[in-house]
Amino acid sequence: MNKPFVLTVEDDTSIRNLITTTLKTNDYRYKSAMNGKEAIMEVSTYNPDIVLLDLGLPDMDGVEVIRDIRSWSNLPIIVISARSEDCDKIEALDAGADDYLTKPFSVEELLARLRATQRRLFFMSTEMLSSKSVFENGKLRVDYAGGCATLDGQELHLTPIEFKLLCLLSKNVGKVLTHQYITQNVWGRSLENHQASLRVFMATLRKKLEPDEDSPEYIQTHIGVGYRMVRVD
Ligand code: CA
Repeated sequence: MNKPFVLTVEDDTSIRNLITTTLKTNDYRYKSAMNGKEAIMEVSTYNPDIVLLDLGLPDMDGVEVIRDIRSWSNLPIIVISARSEDCDKIEALDAGADDYLTKPFSVEELLARLRATQRRLFFMSTEMLSSKSVFENGKLRVDYAGGCATLDGQELHLTPIEFKLLCLLSKNVGKVLTHQYITQNVWGRSLENHQASLRVFMATLRKKLEPDEDSPEYIQTHIGVGYRMVRVD
């Protein structure tokens, strides 16, 4: 199988070099852009498999780049942000980014995020082909049409909100969902008290889903950002 084609958008030369060297030594195909306009042009010209996008670009806001790309393409976008840009990171995820890396990041983290995105792409394509109404992940099985879920063959007794949360997370497996995205999709809008409700429902869902609460297998918490369901082998 061909290694994916990755477009790196980063104006900082040393970080861009670190990324492209990593891609090169790991047999990825790659290209890079130094600003937002160049990024949009390269995405439409070369149709990469994954975009690594710095949020602080010289000519335009990285979030604007995401909105532009999202208006015509679903390709995975991993944003790269500095810790001081936490709000931008959340805005980027809400605008349609799939995942994020926070500077400074290690080569291992970069490769792990790329592998996770590749896995997500692979499962998305196979699930789309079979248009399954049942989702399976490790010992978890979610029957969307039947409105029920099992863990290791045992039925999970979920409330309607917990089931809705589980469906939303599983349909976006591998992707970080922000608090605002989740509350909007579960309750139809995002209110201050829904964020508190979300924490409560997430805690009760996890109690039922994760046999070992101290080392959760299925749902990751991204403090200050949101939640992600991970692919369990
Ligand atoms: Ca930058």
